[in-house]
Amino acid sequence: MAQHIFAYHAVEDGFELSATTVPRRRWREHCRVLSDLGWRAVRVDEMIQGADDGTFCITVDDAYASLLDVVATCECHGWRGTVFVPTGYVGKVASWDVGAWRTHRHLNWEELREVAAAGWEIGVHGHTHTALTDKPIAAARQELQCARSAMEQELGIVATSLAYPFGAVSKALAEMAQAMGFRHGVTMEPSQVEEWHSPLLLPRWPVYRMDTGAHLLARLCGAPWLKQLERARLRTIQRFSQGTRVRMSGKMNIISDAAEQTYVG
Ligand SMILES: [Zn+2]
Repeated sequence: MAQHIFAYHAVEDGFELSATTVPRRRWREHCRVLSDLGWRAVRVDEMIQGADDGTFCITVDDAYASLLDVVATCECHGWRGTVFVPTGYVGKVASWDVGAWRTHRHLNWEELREVAAAGWEIGVHGHTHTALTDKPIAAARQELQCARSAMEQELGIVATSLAYPFGAVSKALAEMAQAMGFRHGVTMEPSQVEEWHSPLLLPRWPVYRMDTGAHLLARLCGAPWLKQLERARLRTIQRFSQGTRVRMSGKMNIISDAAEQTYVG
């Protein structure tokens, strides 16, 4: 049976060019629709690949200030999730997000301790929020080690889950992450998790500002043709959402089945 991981970023109101910022009323709609049907959100490290147990994963990338509202809403439903933190920007504004209309603030360590205390898993999202595939493998390893050490020092945890910044990953990177002790790695490939997926290359359904509860339900329990339609729709949005990655590295990655894959969300 398939499992499902949703990828959120900021959940905020106000004018925004970025497709990844979800308005609060949409977020509450998602929770209400899924909760009413009995779905329960769990952390990535709690997901049992292949189980059909009525659970799905909520993941939130970047740990923006709006995460505190997300955690509070999840608590109301008895849910929890996984947040992926770019450790070099903890407590700072997202100056790395050069394509954004407005810059968001990242949570500080004290706030992240609150999130962990609420039962959320804290995962690695690089240190500098650069695409790991743009670096030599040794530098990518150093980046992940640096992020992990910061979390161990500030939160007292050894992170075992990793979200590749911009979803950029290669087979070599995934193998390196596994050798470092990461047990789960998530990408931005818009798809459900099948039993045959490597735990270090788990796809996620990105959630965009225009997504309704019906869109999320189509991914969770829609007919196969409906899921295919969602995949195609999400890939189209991703093709138009590569601004930050392109400005940061000068690269334009087209989604493909090549060794290096980039799924921007
Ligand atoms: Zn990110």
